[in-house]
Amino acid sequence: MQTEFSLAQLADPDIAESEKILRSCVHCGFCTATCPTYVLLGDELDSPRGRIYLIKNMLEKGGKVAPETVKHIDRCLSCLSCLTTCPSGVNYMHLVDHGRRHIEAHYRRPLRERLMRRVLARVLTSPARLRAALHRSAKTARAIPSWQPCGRCSGCRRSPCRC
Ligand code: SF4
Ligand code: SF4
Repeated sequence: MQTEFSLAQLADPDIAESEKILRSCVHCGFCTATCPTYVLLGDELDSPRGRIYLIKNMLEKGGKVAPETVKHIDRCLSCLSCLTTCPSGVNYMHLVDHGRRHIEAHYRRPLRERLMRRVLARVLTSPARLRAALHRSAKTARAIPSWQPCGRCSGCRRSPCRC
């Protein structure tokens, strides 16, 4: 893949590394067959090859990032299944990590998303907090009778059950 980074951009070691990776992609598309988001959504921009293009354009342009680009890169599961089918050995892992760092530095997410990400980061990185959150959710679910079948029927969801 051809790239158009300036010499000033290439002075940044992260950009230089990503440029090398971008150049190793030959657009063959073999990776699309093993990408779960592409298989599910059928959108080229939700495939590894599509994301590689998005990251290339985003890094070349620098600065602010378009919400559309963020959406497709956010949808990547980082499962790295695409690495197993790439004949050119494209290091997608480094590329997507670099893309994500660029997004965090140059894109302001909507407030709801920021709060949600902050909560998830706090809860998912601490076993104690995760246990407490699961315990609290289970307690809340148990407290809502219509969510649980009464045991007499297969779950009519009427409260009280009249089956
Ligand atoms: S399989 Fe590898 S070389 Fe081919 S498009 Fe995907 S990332 Fe690029
Ligand atoms: S890491 Fe997984 S979800 Fe992301 S592009 Fe590769 S195969 Fe698709």
